[in-house]
Amino acid sequence: MTKPVTNAAAGSSLVTIKDLRKTYIMGDEQVHALDGVDLTIDRGEFLAVLGPSGSGKSTLMHILGFMDKATSGKISFEGEDVSRISASRRAWYRANRVGFIFQAFNLLPRLSVLENVLLPMRYSRSKIHDAKARAEQAIARVDMTHRIHHRPSQLSGGERQRVAIARSIVNQPGIILADEPTGNLDSKNVGRILDLLDSLLVEGLTVIMVTHDLGVADHARRIISMRDGKVQEDRRR
Ligand code: ADP
Repeated sequence: MTKPVTNAAAGSSLVTIKDLRKTYIMGDEQVHALDGVDLTIDRGEFLAVLGPSGSGKSTLMHILGFMDKATSGKISFEGEDVSRISASRRAWYRANRVGFIFQAFNLLPRLSVLENVLLPMRYSRSKIHDAKARAEQAIARVDMTHRIHHRPSQLSGGERQRVAIARSIVNQPGIILADEPTGNLDSKNVGRILDLLDSLLVEGLTVIMVTHDLGVADHARRIISMRDGKVQEDRRR
């Protein structure tokens, strides 16, 4: 399905979450990974998610990334109620409206920079005629044109993460979900990657970043702290 997203006015909320719950049944025990989360994320926000291990950060990111379904609660994304959409509609959102960045970069080692950045367009199911031009543009956006035919193993960590960012933006998603994106980088590259993510916001992107690093979280304009499956604190700066 390739329904265009037309009902999302700029400046409106991108994601609205109401009383979101995710419960795992483990034998006789119920694990409340998310235990009533309410959250509104506006277009153009840079949101950091902090919290101890087991507090529900990954579960929230998986649901926001259409990789998992909540047990109950309501989520709207870009104006559509996505709480109970079909698996194929979820796959469409995952492929077309969300970009992912990981701590370990997750580039395919046998593919060049260009081929890695082309991949999301292959998965998007709609035919993209100008795929190569779009990939080249995304690579230029992260200042990696000079390495376009290199393989990941021929790049530094910071360069790999820039390529991963190019891959995450190539389908022009509404949201970037970043899981510890600077966890494998030295401090100079941490700054560069955060500045790059920051610069995407003015182009209408929204970034949600899980991190354990308070210094990194401090870069975001809004920080939520999770504990026991709940949003314990929500600070804007
Ligand atoms: P975080 O990312 O903050 O470390 P998670 O979202 O991974 O936390 O986990 C939240 C809680 O849910 C934890 O208690 C974890 O053990 C539990 N959990 C996560 N995934 C599963 C699963 N697939 N099955 C059972 N319990 C899970």
